[in-house]
Amino acid sequence: MTRIFISYRRQDSEGHVGRLYDHLLKHFRPEDIFMDVASIEPGADFVDALERAVTACDVCLVVIGPRWAGIPDDAGERRLHQWNDFVRIEVASALRASKRVIPVLVGGARMPAPTDLPDDVIPLSRRNAIELSHSRFAQEVEGLIGVIRANLTARPVKPKSEKRVVDQKVARLKTLHAELINATESPLYAHRVAHKLFPVLGDGSADAGILFIGEAPGKYEAADGRVFIGPSGEVLNELLAGIGLKRESVYITNLLLDNPPEKRAPLPEEIAFYAPYVDRLIAIIEPKVIVPLGRFAAQYLLKKLDLPEKGLSISALHGKMLDAQLPYGQIHVVPMYHPAVVLYQSSQREVLKKDFDVLRLFV
Ligand code: URA
Repeated sequence: MTRIFISYRRQDSEGHVGRLYDHLLKHFRPEDIFMDVASIEPGADFVDALERAVTACDVCLVVIGPRWAGIPDDAGERRLHQWNDFVRIEVASALRASKRVIPVLVGGARMPAPTDLPDDVIPLSRRNAIELSHSRFAQEVEGLIGVIRANLTARPVKPKSEKRVVDQKVARLKTLHAELINATESPLYAHRVAHKLFPVLGDGSADAGILFIGEAPGKYEAADGRVFIGPSGEVLNELLAGIGLKRESVYITNLLLDNPPEKRAPLPEEIAFYAPYVDRLIAIIEPKVIVPLGRFAAQYLLKKLDLPEKGLSISALHGKMLDAQLPYGQIHVVPMYHPAVVLYQSSQREVLKKDFDVLRLFV
């Protein structure tokens, strides 16, 4: 489904648009971006097809280079003023459909004056433009990406399963939980029993489109048997609320399903022990998006999925959207820092918020 429509003239701004597209692809999927009329099927009514593509998008970027308004057709008339000019159709349709239309000035172009525009495109001149200069292109595109994200509208990441299927998922999660309670061979079982702790499978919707995987239950979680209810949970709740996600609509689990002593990091044998539980949980819920929180969950997941990025650190991976395949279908993996980083370094809150914005595509 197209989220971002890029309207431009080849002769005016092709190089800039190519560069912009490459940047956008670091944050969005190719299917989120419509930028070429070539993608209209042969024989389709192009006015109709363009109008539909524009109407389906959330944001329309109108890339304006120095020649955008003035390029003539074969008869020497300004193309923008012809009824069948692609750019005019795109921009006028987006304005008519009250889309967020963002003029993007490139190559030193200025915003065209209303007198240079045909009637149905005149409202464009009242839209605030973003300028992409050659020397600050990367930073300025980051600003544009923030604006795009803030304007994405909510679309469910996966259709709801039938009640019968959801009931089955709930029952299978219950079975998994019961097995976890009886996992006496776990390297953390003795610690659990000695401290009267609970194992923590996770919470949320058994049919969730988005699954979060943290590191391990902390003392609050293990004392109560619920996931992310301590200080890290407060940060996670704030991040979820910031993008309009309800906890009940996602599923939240951990890489380890028992509390490790003294807040220490997971050991390889502990990860290996709980991995089959986490894998089964994924297979039951069948999420379309998996968000590993922190380096341990990210490393585990990327290795399991055998992604080329599996050797990268969390500082290189956070906020990136990676594609992967599971037996039930294609998924996206969006690694993030663990919410606990905010408790040690409050400046990380903004980084996490920005990374969570990536999930707006799926909310
Ligand atoms: N940290 C985690 O990784 N998981 C929790 O459930 C709580 C804190």
